[in-house]
Amino acid sequence: MLNQDTYPPTLAADEQALLESSLVDYALASGAVVRSDAAAGAVHVPLTLFPSPFPRALFERAVAIQKDFHTLYMNVANDEAFIADVVAQMDGADEFTARVWAMYETVKAEGIAQPLGLGIFRSDYLLDFKGAAPAIKQVEFNTISASFGGLSTRAAGVHRHLARTGRYGDSPLFTDAAMPANPAARDLAAGLAAAHKAYGVADALVLFVVQPGERNAFDQRWLEYELADGGVAVRRATLAEATTLCALDADRTLRFRGREVAVVYYRCAYTPDDFPTETEWDGRLVLERSRAIKCPTLLTHLAGAKKIQQVLAGETLLAKYAGDAAPRLAETFADIFPLTATSAEGARARELIATCPERYVLKPQREGGGNNVYRDKIPEFLASVAPEKWSGYILMELIEPPADVANAIIRAGSTRSGNIISELGIFGWALWDTTSGAVLGSENAGWLVRTKFTDSEEGGVAAGFGSVDSVLLV
Ligand code: ADP
Ligand code: MG
Repeated sequence: MLNQDTYPPTLAADEQALLESSLVDYALASGAVVRSDAAAGAVHVPLTLFPSPFPRALFERAVAIQKDFHTLYMNVANDEAFIADVVAQMDGADEFTARVWAMYETVKAEGIAQPLGLGIFRSDYLLDFKGAAPAIKQVEFNTISASFGGLSTRAAGVHRHLARTGRYGDSPLFTDAAMPANPAARDLAAGLAAAHKAYGVADALVLFVVQPGERNAFDQRWLEYELADGGVAVRRATLAEATTLCALDADRTLRFRGREVAVVYYRCAYTPDDFPTETEWDGRLVLERSRAIKCPTLLTHLAGAKKIQQVLAGETLLAKYAGDAAPRLAETFADIFPLTATSAEGARARELIATCPERYVLKPQREGGGNNVYRDKIPEFLASVAPEKWSGYILMELIEPPADVANAIIRAGSTRSGNIISELGIFGWALWDTTSGAVLGSENAGWLVRTKFTDSEEGGVAAGFGSVDSVLLV
């Protein structure tokens, strides 16, 4: 693979300055932006200066197995008993997960009003150079609020523009074929539109449920504008606003300011931080009780728990839920252990933490970045956690990406060069009948590349660690 000695190309000072100013202007002009503190202001999202190299065969592999992952997670989400069992294994150690499950039981007792469910998924990978041959290993599978599809399309647009206009110099690397356009915004909107169509009311809304003060609003706007171009109207509300702006008819039709809602698309509700008071839980309950199609359903949300990822890493269950695709998916799995008190696997995990913590990352049942504990910090951290809460964590083998790949990241007007790690996320959507299991649609929907410097453990862009990137297929 291209390394720091050969990539990125070195430019003369004036060419470098032109590249940077061109990138910033094209990013701003094309909407690769996040909200700034200034009222009505925006700044470009942190971006890499160059597309980061990624082995073409492994990129294509990740794209090719995406729909198999959809099948796996649809089957898991359809198996309420299995999810109940995994939630029980966590034994209340994670209150948020327990509360989401409790809401499912409440809604189910009343009767699930909408059999269809929509999943907008993103399967995240790092390159692993530990074994004999380079491979992709899955970091996690996101089933709720998988973000950056909108900005990812813009980021590829920025890099493609810079290549096309000669800003990368005369290197032969930057061809159209090596830098594919990224259809994430359009194709994710197509998933939402498919759910809207299946609901069957042409002038019904798609409701984006968002965090108050969301800075990543433009990422969401790009999906909204794609939907608008297809004649589907979008409204936005926070969970708290849902308690006053949303209401249910007797047949549990959801209305937003009186207008029927076909699809509820969560861009929040994945973290306890989104539920500071009971009001937010009340808001979610109104939405969940309704006969609007949810993206995702409560069970699909729970299916994305890291604890489920750990349990699925076992072969038997993988074969049960993924069928023939199981070996293809298993190739991408790193070792993951539970920290349960009684199981043999739990004992093994505790032994690994005692003997070689430097090979592992400890993860709580959290989403959104910044929650993991790495390497030598694990023993000390666990010692501070009450043993009855340990079952809320999983222990995962560290994936080892190549350490000698370089790029530059431009953020808030300043550029820093260095060695980087890129995380590839493959987007897709699936629409299915959660009672019969019938699949109405399952499609790939572009990708995301997030890039961070090697000295940062986490890669989240919104959490402040990374940048949005695109691929240079090599
Ligand atoms: P979150 O739900 O917070 O996004 P992740 O499981 O994606 O949690 O972990 C956050 C980040 O931590 C990842 O984006 C990646 O940079 C790093 N990370 C997670 N798991 C591993 C791993 N097994 N090996 C190396 N890095 C990891
Ligand atoms: Mg992640």
